[in-house]
Amino acid sequence: SKFVTLKNQIEGAPQESNFEIKETSLKQISNDEAQLIVKNLYVSIDPYQLNRMKSLSSTHSATKYANQVKLGQAIDAHGVGRVVVCGDERFKEGDLVVGHFGWEEYTLINTTTADGFFRKIESSEFPPSYYLGILGIKIDNWVRIALEGISGLTAYAGFFNVCKPKKGDFVFVSAASGSVGNIVGQYAKLFGCYVVGSAGSNDKVDLLKNKLGFDDAFNYKEETDFDSALKRFFPHGIDIYFDNVGGELLEAAIANMNMFGRIAVCGVISEYTNKRRSAPNMLDVIYKRITIQGFLLVDYLHLFQEFMSFTCDQLRNDKIQAIEDISMGLESIPSAFVGLFNGSNVGKKLVQLE
Ligand code: NDP
Repeated sequence: SKFVTLKNQIEGAPQESNFEIKETSLKQISNDEAQLIVKNLYVSIDPYQLNRMKSLSSTHSATKYANQVKLGQAIDAHGVGRVVVCGDERFKEGDLVVGHFGWEEYTLINTTTADGFFRKIESSEFPPSYYLGILGIKIDNWVRIALEGISGLTAYAGFFNVCKPKKGDFVFVSAASGSVGNIVGQYAKLFGCYVVGSAGSNDKVDLLKNKLGFDDAFNYKEETDFDSALKRFFPHGIDIYFDNVGGELLEAAIANMNMFGRIAVCGVISEYTNKRRSAPNMLDVIYKRITIQGFLLVDYLHLFQEFMSFTCDQLRNDKIQAIEDISMGLESIPSAFVGLFNGSNVGKKLVQLE
């Protein structure tokens, strides 16, 4: 059974050489404990993993939400798998499960202790990969990250609860073709806002404008001055900025916010690989009474049912699209991960193992 492991802690941008593929003998279940062996079908590739691979001090706030990855071990990650060996009567071979498994071919689950980390997928209405992206499964026994499929609820909670939209608001979304960003833009359009996204290639801009219904979009890599770019796309100013990126785009967004504008700080991916920190113009924040709120989806698990019912209805009625970017094979996991930080992915990045 093959798995991906971290060779050394990462500084700056991740490289494929930071990772190694290793192999162990196939796992066996014990006769004394309720256990399952799951063959992983899809594994999730997420930017937050990078902060788990750095050497952070134990007092860093990021370490409260996710343990640091241990060198030499299979890297734990969200996944969807099929039960191939079953030692628990609540399951059967062939069941699809979603949970916190790993970048590995097979995961051994001790079902009593890992109850908080996985669930059976009961419905076959949507492709199982959706449970890692636009949909999710809520796991009540929350310990650390016990919600699989984090993009959809992050977009839902961040847009509807943190940004507090009003119809007609002018909304700017960065990393707009990414997993969270594209869903935010689609929700904002459904709600009746005017939405502009930024993304890192002309193909991504085309997707946003011509397939996902954004009112406009631009390739930030072709702009020399973000402030004047935003003035061009928002002649009436920005009411809501959903920030996935931080850095200079955040500074330019603040300069273009309207009075009482709201900024949801979802992620600052430009700062994960770079020592530069955003330097917002706080005088602007004060005079324009801007609200800047960081948030984590774990604080919004109470919205889960509402989010699922809304999003499933939109999917059923073709009012929202699930954008997935799937690479094949365990060996492609390191490059898939590295690609998140240079914009190779379009939509939710997954690796299919079978
Ligand atoms: P994405 O699918 O958006 O992948 C990352 C994207 O970020 C890339 O495709 C790339 O697109 C863009 N990007 C990478 N580096 C830079 C850079 N230096 N400057 C600008 N854009 C860059 O990932 P997710 O949707 O999973 O996550 C988006 C953000 O949301 C991340 O910051 C993540 O950490 C955060 N997040 C926060 C959560 C929360 O609870 N607060 C939960 C889940 C995610 P491009 O081609 O446009 O450059």
